[in-house]
Formats: sequence, C-alpha cells, structure tokens
Amino acid sequence: MDPLIVLLIVLGVLAVLLVGGAALVAPKLRRPRPPAPRPPAEAGPVTAPPAEVTAPPEEVTAPPEEVTAPPEEAERPVLERPEPTTGRLVRLRARLARSQSTLGRGLLNLLARDRLDEAAWEEVEDTLLMADVGVEATTELVERLRARTKLLGTRDPAELRSMLVEELVSALDPTLDRSLAATPTEGKPAVLLVVGVNGSGKTTTCGKIARVLIADGHSVLLGAADTFRAAAADQLATWGGRVGAEVVRGPEGADPASVAFDAVRRGIETGVDTVVVDTAGRLHTKVGLMDELGKVKRVVEKQAPVAETLLVLDATTGQNGLAQARVFTEVVDVTGVALTKLDGTAKGGIVIAVQRKLGLPVKLVGLGEGPDDLAPFDPEQFASALLGEEAR
Ligand code: GDP
Repeated sequence: MDPLIVLLIVLGVLAVLLVGGAALVAPKLRRPRPPAPRPPAEAGPVTAPPAEVTAPPEEVTAPPEEVTAPPEEAERPVLERPEPTTGRLVRLRARLARSQSTLGRGLLNLLARDRLDEAAWEEVEDTLLMADVGVEATTELVERLRARTKLLGTRDPAELRSMLVEELVSALDPTLDRSLAATPTEGKPAVLLVVGVNGSGKTTTCGKIARVLIADGHSVLLGAADTFRAAAADQLATWGGRVGAEVVRGPEGADPASVAFDAVRRGIETGVDTVVVDTAGRLHTKVGLMDELGKVKRVVEKQAPVAETLLVLDATTGQNGLAQARVFTEVVDVTGVALTKLDGTAKGGIVIAVQRKLGLPVKLVGLGEGPDDLAPFDPEQFASALLGEEAR
C-alpha cells in the first residue's frame, strides 16, 4: 500500500505541478509577443521556426547596412545652394536705407533748391562729411557739383539725379579691378587671406566669401587660422558645412601659420580652386601683427602664392576704423577691402573714403547677417541705390 499510494501521490503532485506550471508559463510567453508562443505549441513546424529564426538574423544583418545608410543620409545636411552673386547688390539695396535717406536723398533735396547759394553748398559739404566721404573727396565732389549745376542751369530732379549718380560713380572710381583672384594657377589653388580687426565680421565674411565663390562655380576650402578666438573655428566649420566646403582647423591656440600651411597643403591635395584662410585679428602691436601675418604669408607661400589679401573693415567704425585698417595695409600687401555692416550705418560715404585713404578697391560689401548678404561691389548700382533709384 505504501509504495503504491506514495507513487500515486507523487504522480498526482507532478500532474498538478505540470498543469499549474503550464498555466503560469503560458501567459508569460504570450505577453511579450503574442504570436511567438504559438508555433512551439504546434508539433510539426517546431524545427521549421528555428530555421526561420536563424535566417532572419542573417537577413537582419543585411538590412542594418541599409538601415544605417538612411540615418547617415538623414544626418548629412542638405547642402545649400548660395544665391547667384550678380544682382545681389540690387536685391540688397533697401539695406542701404539709412545712407540713402541721409546721403542720397539729402544731397538731392539740397541740389534741387531754387537758389544754390554759399549756405546751400556748405550744407552739401556737411552732408558729405557726415556720411564719412572724407575731407578730400568732399572738397572735390563739391567743386565738381558746383561746376556742373552751373552748366546744367536747371533743377530738374531727373537730371540732377543722373548728374549725382555720375559724380558718385566717378568718386568711387569705376576703373578699379574688383574681381576676386580665385582661379587656380599652375595647378595650385588661389590662396585668399582674410585679415582684419576682431569683431569686424572677418570670420563671418570668410564664410560668406566661400558662398560667393561657390555660387560663381569655384570649389573652396576654408582654413581656420584664427586660433585665438575659441569660437572662430566652430563658426567657420558651420559655414563650410552648409555649402560642402572642407574646413581645416587646428587645436585652440595653435600656431595660425601652421593651420594656414595645413589648409593650403590640403587644398593642393584635394585640388580645390580657392583656399580661403581666416586669420587672427588681435589688436596688438604693429610689430606683433606684422610678425604673425608675415609668418602666415611666408609659410603659405612655401606651397602656393597668396593671390589675394582681403581686409575686412566694419563700416560703422568710420574714420577710426580706417586708422586701424591702415596698420594692416602696412604689414601685409592688402589687395582689396570687404566692407561689412553697411546696412547698419548712415555713413555709406565710407566706401569713397576707404578707397581713397587706403588706395584699395572695395571688392565686397556686407549688407546684413544673412548668409548671402555679401555682395560684389558695383559703383553704379551702389550710387543708384544711395539715391533711391532703380538700379540700371
Ligand atoms: P570677427 O571677430 O571679425 O571674426 O567677427 P564675426 O565674423 O564673428 O562677426 C561679428 C558680428 O558681426 C557677427 O554678429 C556678424 O553676424 C556680424 N556681421 C558681420 N558682417 C555683417 C554685416 O554685413 N551686417 C551686419 N548687420 N552684421 C554683420
């Protein structure tokens, strides 16, 4: 009795355990993936599912490659296509509103007076001086305007306007070469050094210049040799990334000349048309500046000649800024000026003063913080814009 009963009891307990266990396990299996627990319950396909299970991992490994591709593409920023450069100044002429109302309209209203007596001419002179045209150019302009208004013998607004446009254009010297040297020579990229005082908009202008060049069909590499301002390299990397221009940078505080050297070497390797090098513009001693920029130039020229040295100048700093700028022209062969922030000043006459005092052409003008708010300078369009006239 004993063994039989014991056996029965054991079997009974086992049966209870088995049934209870299945009841406990089943819901757990079902919960995570409802369809999954079913196949094991079916006797036949038991071997089949494992085969299918092993197959998917293989298939799964394939998709991940495909799967990783889209995220990369999704992360890769869509490159921007910069606006064409022709017509930018016309598009941005409204940004000259402040100079337009004081300089352009101011002059027109004065010249349209019935009587142009000495007091009126003094006002013309003051208007020009206040617009930062500079003493020399103002004296010349007033003399020419006096002579021409005498000859004109009329106060017809249209005639006055075209006369004023002509005189402003001639003061802006339309014969100056304002093209950017950006084409490779002897298989080497054109190197464009960008110099100027910190805060003038130098780094921003480097980024905008890259866009100008790309819009004109050039390939560009940017060299972040302003290693003293922590954010400058990051700023440039963002500009470059937006238009697909490679950016060569060094660690913070690195020797600017070595970064410039690496940038030009990389530009030669990759065969770009133009290497634009941002430089440090710390306001220190003239000797220090000369050493630093001189070294950058020397080192760069071990590989390729510097085709262009652009001086970035903040138009809102007026005659003061001009004095600072002159130091740069004394330490490095500046070939042209990028005049920034013309949108923020009523002193648009500074363009005339810059060219006369520095003896350099203004090649580009900054008219806002937007990426394509840098326009190739054109004397006629500029003069027309100052007078609030449709550009010709
Ligand atoms: P950097 O120290 O000379 O490199 O100066 P940044 O490039 O950092 O520019 C200084 C500030 O000037 C930034 O806020 C720019 O957006 C601004 N800036 C540059 N060019 C122009 C311009 O043409 N118009 C206006 N309104 N702001 C500008």
